[in-house]
Amino acid sequence: MKIILLGAPGSGKGTLAKKISRDFDIPQISTGDLFRAIVKESSPLANKVKEIMASGGLVPDEITIEMVKDRIAKPDCKKGFILDGFPRTVKQGEALATFSNIDTVILVELANEVIIDRLSSRRTCPNCGEIYSIEDNPEEICKKCNTPLIQRDDDKPDTIRHRLEVYDKNTSPLINFYSDRLFKVSSAGSPEETYSPVKAFLTKLEEKGE
Ligand code: ADP
Ligand code: ZN
Repeated sequence: MKIILLGAPGSGKGTLAKKISRDFDIPQISTGDLFRAIVKESSPLANKVKEIMASGGLVPDEITIEMVKDRIAKPDCKKGFILDGFPRTVKQGEALATFSNIDTVILVELANEVIIDRLSSRRTCPNCGEIYSIEDNPEEICKKCNTPLIQRDDDKPDTIRHRLEVYDKNTSPLINFYSDRLFKVSSAGSPEETYSPVKAFLTKLEEKGE
């Protein structure tokens, strides 16, 4: 199954992707994670990407498309994959269509005010990538690997607002682009409540013989 997760930053795509990846045994490909790995190196590309990410803007399409194309060509993607954070522009969607056939696009919907609240209280483990909310983890220590949690630079209020604007302008047109294969889900409830209808839908899709 080849799946795209579409939704604003902070709508809960990453959390949903991890559950789908576990249950349907397909890799989660997060372009944000791939870029965060690139940024840790020291190269001219790393510096450029770092600056763009810190501002909440988008990395140029050419760089992003190449990176995803390479990743999807790896053997673990043969059975399928979940794209989390890609495509983010219609140009990326058009490019993707030339090298892969997407079965379904899951649109994760959440009101902007809730997104701003959730992202402001989001903390990430710099070691293993686990995501927490400060409400659930006031000690701010990773429960999996004991590393002190950090707040991503782009999870600060001004950058969040800019990321939401970028989503409305550049990414939301993809909702129309994929109108023939869209499955909508609200992430206003708990992660389990969000996942449940998605799991039912994907199970059916899988039975149909994807
Ligand atoms: P979120 O979904 O929480 O905004 P991500 O981890 O998906 O965060 O992405 C972080 C940053 O990485 C984005 O703000 C952007 O700068 C860059 N990025 C990720 N995916 C893409 C993409 N498909 N195209 C361009 N830039 C991207
Ligand atoms: Zn950890």
